[in-house]
Amino acid sequence: MKQGNPYSCNNNDLSFDTVLPVPPATATNEIWRFERPVWNTDICVRCGACFLICPDAAIFKKNNGYFEADLNRCKGCGLCVRECWTGALSLEQTAQRPPWLAKNF
Ligand code: SF4
Ligand code: SF4
Repeated sequence: MKQGNPYSCNNNDLSFDTVLPVPPATATNEIWRFERPVWNTDICVRCGACFLICPDAAIFKKNNGYFEADLNRCKGCGLCVRECWTGALSLEQTAQRPPWLAKNF
């Protein structure tokens, strides 16, 4: 029987992969996300607030200074839309919303 702290980082029997499986590099949120953020560059002032708030680090800055979402990482939570103070961001529906998910929560 092994000795020592079972939660130690040195214990090979309990890795982070065991607790929370790391998705493969090819994993994408496209298969289940039903909305995506859309930027209106006529209104966007390139402040970066949406970039900073995204919990999945899905938003990146393009060469022209405007922002875009990596749709493989974006889960469509809408936090960036709420954070945008100019109204330049909106959510576009890309798939059928699951019936078990309330419209307004
Ligand atoms: S928060 Fe709104 S105005 Fe600021 S960069 Fe993002 S989309 Fe543009
Ligand atoms: S919808 Fe959510 S996950 Fe997608 S870019 Fe906006 S804040 Fe990030």
